[in-house]
Amino acid sequence: MAIMSTPTTFQPVLERIAEEIERTPGSGRPADYIPALAACDPRRFGMAVAEPDGTVYGVGDWREPFSAQSITKVFTLALDLAREGDALWEHVGREPSGNPFNSLVQLEYENGIPRNPFINAGALVVTDRLHTRTGDAAGELLDFLRAESGNPGLTYDEEVAASETAHGDRNAALGHFMASYGNIDNPVPVLLEQYFRQCSVAASCADLALATGFLARHGIRADGSRLLSRSQAKQVNAVMLTCGTYDAAGDFAYRVGLPGKSGVGGGIIAVVPGRCTLCVWSPGLDERGNSVAGVAALDRFTTLTGLSVF
Ligand code: GLU
Repeated sequence: MAIMSTPTTFQPVLERIAEEIERTPGSGRPADYIPALAACDPRRFGMAVAEPDGTVYGVGDWREPFSAQSITKVFTLALDLAREGDALWEHVGREPSGNPFNSLVQLEYENGIPRNPFINAGALVVTDRLHTRTGDAAGELLDFLRAESGNPGLTYDEEVAASETAHGDRNAALGHFMASYGNIDNPVPVLLEQYFRQCSVAASCADLALATGFLARHGIRADGSRLLSRSQAKQVNAVMLTCGTYDAAGDFAYRVGLPGKSGVGGGIIAVVPGRCTLCVWSPGLDERGNSVAGVAALDRFTTLTGLSVF
């Protein structure tokens, strides 16, 4: 039963969710393919909700920086789409893949054009294009996240970036394979350096809930300027809904009913267009790479508040 249909403050609902999560310890495990992530305590839990005016509510470890990983793919997509518009969609699709995030299989059938911007191959294409346009894709991302979150201290985690570089063979394979089809502009080692820096961004639930705000404000940044048209903001939200949680997007839409994007650091961002943005973090992942407690918490949020896109 909903405890509030139109909450004036999100604090009570966040506290209730945190209590429920604490009573049901998750079964997930931290990502282990990047050693720097494997060391995370899977019981950590934080959650934040930001309103379009920048008011932010939080519970648990909501101010603790964690590895944003694939959550950053939303921001690079928005930054590139803002610059090049629909031409981007000639280089990357927008259909769910049904394959793991780092799969090579589909790429050969589909001539080096990745299914969507949120699998690794698609994110590499987006970062490549953003790098061509700006000369510093990862720096552009960092500037954006700092400005939107109001946190000038937000930065990369050098240990995670080094760990990814040392274990980056599969992403290198994806990059070279797409380059062979002419779908990568920059030298692959340059692209990989940018991509691993991007993935290594450390940010808190508060930072990421605030940085996602432009998607709740239909494309408007925190300072009132426009990043995306209303229609482009809708497009990014739609791709998050259909492709944002690896090959579990159907289940996420069924349980949570919001556009969302997860990362293997255990974070998930989600958007209630026009109303608020959320970020939840807990490092224990299910077998498809989504935070177990994170999905459960978002599921409870939409159930308790009635706020979903459906
Ligand atoms: N850095 C990770 C990789 O490319 C990102 C994975 C993710 O969060 O989905 O393998």
